[in-house]
Amino acid sequence: MFIDCSEKERFIFAKIAHAAAQLETECYIIGGFVRDKILGRETADVDIVCLGDGIELAHATARLFHPQPRVSFFKNFGTAHIKVDDLDIEFVGARKESYRYHSRKPEVTPGTLEDDQQRRDFTINALAISLNPNNYGALIDPFEGIQALEAKMIRTPLDPDQTFSDDPLRMMRAIRFASQLRFFIEEHTWQGIQNNIERIHIISQERITDELNKILLSKKPSVGLDLLYQSGLLHIIFPQMIDLAGAEYKDGMGHKDNFYHTLQVVDNIAENTDDLWLRWAALLHDIGKPATKRFEEGHGWTFHGHEVVGGRMVPKIFARFRLPMDHKMRFVKKLVELHLRPISLTKENITDSAIRRLLFDAGDDIDALMTLCKADITSKNKQKVKRYLDNFEMVRYRLEAVEESDRIRNWQPPVTGEMIMEIFGLPPCKQVGDIKNAIRDAILDGEIENNYDAAYDFMLKTAKAFNLEPVK
Ligand code: ATP
Ligand code: MG
Repeated sequence: MFIDCSEKERFIFAKIAHAAAQLETECYIIGGFVRDKILGRETADVDIVCLGDGIELAHATARLFHPQPRVSFFKNFGTAHIKVDDLDIEFVGARKESYRYHSRKPEVTPGTLEDDQQRRDFTINALAISLNPNNYGALIDPFEGIQALEAKMIRTPLDPDQTFSDDPLRMMRAIRFASQLRFFIEEHTWQGIQNNIERIHIISQERITDELNKILLSKKPSVGLDLLYQSGLLHIIFPQMIDLAGAEYKDGMGHKDNFYHTLQVVDNIAENTDDLWLRWAALLHDIGKPATKRFEEGHGWTFHGHEVVGGRMVPKIFARFRLPMDHKMRFVKKLVELHLRPISLTKENITDSAIRRLLFDAGDDIDALMTLCKADITSKNKQKVKRYLDNFEMVRYRLEAVEESDRIRNWQPPVTGEMIMEIFGLPPCKQVGDIKNAIRDAILDGEIENNYDAAYDFMLKTAKAFNLEPVK
């Protein structure tokens, strides 16, 4: 075989070949699996294309295994899927496609292997391996895909303008592959993307978001994010990011380019976590900066409150990207809101109560917050970065020490809002919140002890100031 497969994979491919022979049809492994095998990347998705009915071949293949895998199929698309061991195998008949302008759904007619390879998005995705007796295991590479893999190049098999206009999702895919594989996009292909950016409008948000997430999950996401920016696609799909770009100067004072700073932070965090939502937090941590930018005479540029404004933008951005509006969104929002807090603790004379307060506010997300905060330390000045990192380690150390002694992370004050309402006969109202917060603050600040009796006494005193007496 041209590609390096495990024994199990070879066994499974032999079965598929056998089934194809029974049906007197030709079949091939094609696309991503071939590409990834040659690159030595892990892959468990196999696409099989046959000159005939893919669903029939899937059934014939399934019958050769004991126990028989279940065949799930979509009659309309002519595709079928089986899972054998860890392999997800997708079967489809070779097809020829023609596109209409307003849709990325082509008209499909049966075609030859060559037709099928031509409709693939990039030459590195058009490689096929024969499973036929006359040339079993041979590579079929009509578009110099192997050369492109060696050159680390992304290029369309046919005219790039046509390719991207037919299915504009391919623009996102090109940039995603460039980011995932660290490939460059060939010049004409790149020009084709720039010519067609407006066509992205016919693609559903879910598909765009999928690709953006894959870019964010790549090893160095700035590669893809910068290409999105350079191509003009980012202006359309994510205008709030564009507002971060550029640095303004006044009276000889400038500020950093927050777009490139953000890309650096995303790259930094990518070295420490594969968590998509933490990476989203890095992407959005400064998103409130453009809206809060001010120039203060004699002082320079400020972005006061950008973490609060940024936090408010998170739900809107999640909704726009059709990302989940659940605890994942709340996690990102919280991290954006808190992202300055650990750094503000690197100043001298920080009390234990400030540390306790951060532990209380961050709760179980304190480690994620510290990961974000560390990634946020960027500067061209190495000395400065080192000083910040040293300070940052101090904060980490103190957080650990205070958590060790006070156990604040999952702590809740001993008197709850429900108790306050019951004791004073109050409906849910602002006063209840005020009393509750006063108790919490008194404990966090070390004014009173962290137990029920101390909290109860303190509550009575606070309530008196509001002219409240217990009802029983
Ligand atoms: P990954 O699995 O990492 O997303 P992939 O290249 O395998 O990458 P799939 O979506 O699994 O992508 O598609 C399998 C194959 O189908 C691709 O390798 C490519 O040949 C073809 N393909 C997928 N999407 C398109 C598209 N939009 N236009 C043309 N060909 C496509
Ligand atoms: Mg795939």
